[in-house]
Amino acid sequence: MPNALFDEITSRSSQMSRTFLREPGGRTITYAGMQEHSARFAHALRVAGVKVGDRVAVQVEKSAEALFVYLACVRAGAVFLPLNTAYTPAEISYFLGDAQPSLFLCDPAKAAALRVVAAEAGARLETLGADGKGSFASLGQQQPAAFENAERGPDDLAAILYTSGTTGRSKGAMLSHENLASNARALVETWRFSAEDVLLHALPIFHTHGLFVATNVVLFSNASMIFLPKFDPAQMLALMGEASVMMGVPTFYVRLVDHPGLTRAATAKMRLFISGSAPLLAETHRAFEGKTGHAILERYGMTETNMNTSNPYEGDRIAGTVGFPLPGVALRVTDPETGTPLPADEIGMIEVKGGNVFKGYWKNPEKTAAEFRPDGFFITGDLGKVDRRGYVHILGRGKDLIITGGYNVYPKEIEGEIDALPGVNESAVIGLPHKDFGEGVTAVVVPVKGAALSEKDILAAIEQRLAKFKQPKRVIVVDELPRNTMGKVQKNVLRETYRDLYRA
Ligand code: AMP
Repeated sequence: MPNALFDEITSRSSQMSRTFLREPGGRTITYAGMQEHSARFAHALRVAGVKVGDRVAVQVEKSAEALFVYLACVRAGAVFLPLNTAYTPAEISYFLGDAQPSLFLCDPAKAAALRVVAAEAGARLETLGADGKGSFASLGQQQPAAFENAERGPDDLAAILYTSGTTGRSKGAMLSHENLASNARALVETWRFSAEDVLLHALPIFHTHGLFVATNVVLFSNASMIFLPKFDPAQMLALMGEASVMMGVPTFYVRLVDHPGLTRAATAKMRLFISGSAPLLAETHRAFEGKTGHAILERYGMTETNMNTSNPYEGDRIAGTVGFPLPGVALRVTDPETGTPLPADEIGMIEVKGGNVFKGYWKNPEKTAAEFRPDGFFITGDLGKVDRRGYVHILGRGKDLIITGGYNVYPKEIEGEIDALPGVNESAVIGLPHKDFGEGVTAVVVPVKGAALSEKDILAAIEQRLAKFKQPKRVIVVDELPRNTMGKVQKNVLRETYRDLYRA
């Protein structure tokens, strides 16, 4: 039966003998194999009681089989719901209670702890391990290698991805077949993907980046990927001779730049390096280009919208910007209070509209209504601007904006000044409760290894460069910044840690 997303995957990856996925030192799975594995798992879903429209929650380690569960859900008309492998049973309990899946797949090692949690939510529990084995895999092995896909149209749900939830509870973003397909089409075109490409895949697959951006772009171009359980710079460098594209979070690039093996020769066969999910420091962009000759292509997206913008494939890839809106995506910057569109170069709220934008938050119509404008634009929560050449700049999350003495301070501007100082590796600027100013601008700074940096030096160095109200009231020097698994600096953690700094 017609199935919007899977039919498009099948028609675009028609060369069945081509490699879909290869594990270094392990298996090679062709597109024919992808069809078979996903068919067996789609049958296994039915045997496990999953009906069309049911949610299938998974908290499993990265494996080819885990990807086949995603594809099996698409084929069986179920809603795939991947969960971060770091979540504790208490957190899983919230997600299962909220999403009410009929099936929950977890790692065999966690089954004992999660059995009760699944039972409480009314979900059947099956297992799937990093080695691709487990009760669900066994169920799959007994099933036929062909499956009649469930009928699903463009607007039917393919997945629910919970947002990282840095403020309050995470919310489930409902993504339709067309949300995923339209984005994959736009990215294949923008990044010039073809069946000749081999992608280095070292990202987790519970997040939009490794799951949808990486995997769907490969599936939509009949390309291949080298599938790695985790990021290891030496292994990535060793494999670059066999690959053509790498997708990574900024931390991957920071670690590659630090590696002595990163050279022009090591990257000579690669055609494209893509970064996203968190801001790439302009310094990393420059250092990488200096060592390899490759300008990293930075793009911007989020769980709710898939990808929104990308630096150009041909044309200037400008460090510190996220490029232009993708084909089919409309982007504007508005006054956060009134929603009135702002002219070029003015900072405001980034709003987007297009086939990529999600269908709303699961079981949360109020929150959904609050984040869309009447004309259908989604309020991303990211502050930014569009410059005169049309490049989009992200200046941080709206909730990270600091209001001190009635003035708005954009953390990114202050971070840029501090990062440019000798001896500074990176910084995070946050607002902390302050009785006189409302919020006190505060910088948390990481020195480069071996550099002696003091609060006094930093304050003195930026005194001439920033207006008084933008200057940090305090500077805290630390060894490293707290980051989540996607490499995003957790400013909420910093705000919590230093909450009482100005209360003493
Ligand atoms: P997530 O939903 O976990 O993918 O997080 C999405 C958020 O990450 C966005 O709303 C941005 O704040 C941030 N983000 C993603 N890509 C970039 C980028 N290239 N530069 C700056 N921030 C980014």
